[in-house]
Amino acid sequence: MKNYKNPDENGYYGEFGGAFVPEMLYPNVAELKQKYIEIIDSEEFQTEFQDLLKNYVGRATPLYFAKNLSEKYQTQVYLKREDLNHTGAHKINNALGQVLLAKKLGKKRIIAETGAGQHGVATATACALMNLECIVYMGEVDIARQAPNVGRMKMLGATVIPATSGSKTLKDAVNEALRDWINNATTTHYIIGSVVGPHPFPDLVARFQSVISEEIKWQLKEIIGRENPDYVIACVGGGSNAAGTFYHFVNEENVKLIAAEAGGFGLDSGKSAATTFLGTLGILHGSKSIVMQTEDGQVIEPHSISAGLDYPGIGPFHANLFAAKRAEFFSITDDEALKSAFELTNTEGIIPALESAHALAVLDKKKFAKDEVVVICLSGRGDKDMETYLQNL
Ligand SMILES: *Cc1c(COP(=O)(O)O)cnc(C)c1O
Repeated sequence: MKNYKNPDENGYYGEFGGAFVPEMLYPNVAELKQKYIEIIDSEEFQTEFQDLLKNYVGRATPLYFAKNLSEKYQTQVYLKREDLNHTGAHKINNALGQVLLAKKLGKKRIIAETGAGQHGVATATACALMNLECIVYMGEVDIARQAPNVGRMKMLGATVIPATSGSKTLKDAVNEALRDWINNATTTHYIIGSVVGPHPFPDLVARFQSVISEEIKWQLKEIIGRENPDYVIACVGGGSNAAGTFYHFVNEENVKLIAAEAGGFGLDSGKSAATTFLGTLGILHGSKSIVMQTEDGQVIEPHSISAGLDYPGIGPFHANLFAAKRAEFFSITDDEALKSAFELTNTEGIIPALESAHALAVLDKKKFAKDEVVVICLSGRGDKDMETYLQNL
């Protein structure tokens, strides 16, 4: 089977990826590219990182057999409980890894972008722990719809700066963060929150999130006696929880991969964030990938009920899986995601993040056989989405 896991030395997954950055960022990106693998593979780094994942984050997260959901859909559903991580989502795996990396690179100032606020909270948390200055860029619209996370970031000592351009959501926050990085390149490390951005970020973030599938493998072996499920399913904003969930399965032919994108109001509505359905080849935030854009290359404002999926691009890792038909992509509407969120809450007593609810909704879209093992990444918990849920009760 082809190697889907890692990019080539220039950061390409098939035809997607690369590093398209302004000249002033070359030195930073080149330094990262040169050093990241050596640093994160070192014994010193791994000892510290693994200790934090275990004792601070609370890993390994359970692989939970969802009996009631399995009964309902007549298949074997397992939930990878990233919602039980410290700070409530998978984002902390990457934030801690990158803060450790920034320290090794001698950087004192950390910047980040955030959509739902989960990456901002995770980064602010890691910075509080390691005593680093933390600045988080967040779209004005997201600041309004994710108020609890804004409060948490502030309490953790981060400065939250609103992004007021464009749709005032995630992509605009990334633009502001990149602008800051260009102006403060020597002192600052930019902790990108997903498998997007210029090489080596997609690979770096995928490696930190790969702990998800690493655990699924040994957990499944323990529970059912084999390492590989028949399906793994994850939602895709930029694609970090999906990359982590797919990572150790992507080169295993017998494991089928399913990605759930945010369909918003529907594919034809003009209010959607389903990038692979609506996008074309383009460059966004430093990498060549599939982008929602007009014919002359203007980015189309995305829409999703979930701030974490409200992004007009997709990481190059996933663009390649899509182009090669290695993964099957579904577009899940806001309403379908809401329905699945309430269904999980009622059947299993677990309130999922709205993002994760998109992955759960695949159960309604595709028929699985009774004995097939379907692992769904529950990327985060629903606390941050309570206001939206209560409005739709
Ligand atoms: C940020 C976020 C996502 C989307 O980001 P990916 O990089 O695609 O994983 C999904 N779920 C939750 C809970 C999030 O916080």
